[in-house]
Amino acid sequence: MAESAPLQGLSLIENGWFIEKNAQWPGQANALEVKEVLLHKKTKFQDLLVFASAKHGNVIVLDGVIQITERDEMSYQEMLAHLPMFSADKPTHVLIIGGGDGGVLREVVKHDTVEKVTWCEIDGDVVEAAKKYMPNVAVAVSNPKTELLVGDGVAFAESSKENSFDVIIVDSSDPVGPAEKLFSKEFYVNVHRILKPGGVVCSQGECLWLNEDLIDAMVTDYGACFASAEYASIQVPTYPSGQIGAFIARKAGTAGPASCRSPRREPPAGMPLRYYTAEMHAAAFALPAFLRKRLKAV
Ligand code: SAM
Repeated sequence: MAESAPLQGLSLIENGWFIEKNAQWPGQANALEVKEVLLHKKTKFQDLLVFASAKHGNVIVLDGVIQITERDEMSYQEMLAHLPMFSADKPTHVLIIGGGDGGVLREVVKHDTVEKVTWCEIDGDVVEAAKKYMPNVAVAVSNPKTELLVGDGVAFAESSKENSFDVIIVDSSDPVGPAEKLFSKEFYVNVHRILKPGGVVCSQGECLWLNEDLIDAMVTDYGACFASAEYASIQVPTYPSGQIGAFIARKAGTAGPASCRSPRREPPAGMPLRYYTAEMHAAAFALPAFLRKRLKAV
């Protein structure tokens, strides 16, 4: 971005509405009414906007794309975290890549089996913004089981030892800018290498109405080295087309089915959940006919 160019986030606010126009979804745009702009800065990696909305609480936007609203964040955070956590046998070591708002971390530390969470987020400014403007989302940032490393998740996966993690969650922004390589085959080969046998990866899997080619590549091509590779669907009203997916894959080496379609445990009584249930877990794998046909391998 040229120094003199208007920062992307503010230029998308027109007549008091944030309009999410973007070349990634041409011809359509979600819009949220803005009450107040709370923060706007260019970080080392991206354009960061935080605004208070009229009906969706505070909203974080990166490079002009809505990442999270306080109203509907639980559907994405809970599913991205609990789909793999309840699919793994006894997750003790968890790696989170991205997820700067801290929402996936909040969900992961709800599991008593967890001993250590390594959290690799490229942009420390996103974490700081979430702590200030979304304290209920970033609530676990200082959890003593958590080690926050501010750095690139691709490089971290490349340099990590094999068989290190029971669960890896890639809470990535869209495949442009710093997140582009988090959607590459090379990255998934490293993810497979650093997972323990039977370990599970769950990654932001993009929208089935907009990204069929990418979903096909993740499930059929990148997934070829895993024992199973599947796509689960999540409803998020404020994401483009109101839907986003989770790419979920298991490394060979555990007893029981390789597929992650059925959770291996029920959520314990008392775990605070607003979207995830064992029924939602299973239902998320039911896909429309056009996508099932496209994903020949599943
Ligand atoms: N699911 C949300 C969405 O699609 O709107 C993503 C939310 S989360 C805020 C995405 C995070 O990924 C951001 O905090 C961003 O800084 C981080 N990120 C992007 N590229 C990264 C990389 N290469 N390594 C680590 N974190 C990265």
